Amino acid sequence: MDTEKKQKYFVSRKKTVTIKCLACGKVRTVPVENLNKKSHSLTINCPCTKTFEVDLEFRHDYRQKSHIVGSFRAYSSPKERSRRCVIADQSLGGLLLHVQDDLPIKHDDRLIVSYPSDSGSLREIERVISVRHYTPGSRIGGAFVDAKDQFRSQDTLTATA
Ligand SMILES: [Zn+2]
Repeated sequence: MDTEKKQKYFVSRKKTVTIKCLACGKVRTVPVENLNKKSHSLTINCPCTKTFEVDLEFRHDYRQKSHIVGSFRAYSSPKERSRRCVIADQSLGGLLLHVQDDLPIKHDDRLIVSYPSDSGSLREIERVISVRHYTPGSRIGGAFVDAKDQFRSQDTLTATA
């Protein structure tokens, strides 16, 4: 058996991972869309005759930096009372909102956040978050409490070596 250190790739938002053969340096792109979302080993047969295994790790808390304009409101408020926010950071576990208003928000408050599914898209996502931290007039960090689409396929895969 080969005793050299296995390469490990972290996978998040893309559907492919780019793997480099350490023997010849050749780079190949491998689809990982249909693989187990937790961890997976792949055996790569390189044209240079090198055969090697790589480990893939699917990140659950991969954070996507973003700057999406959305709105939020208290769970019990009607949508007309939504306030503007910027989704500054999103992950499979929650959101970081930048806000301007100084609001009476407390830890564990539930907020409904609406924002376009992608920048430029008209389709709107509504998620419920539970407030984890709040800096008045600045930022709200919250964890999703509606776990429904935590593992949408488009959320899965980006690779960094
Ligand atoms: Zn090779």
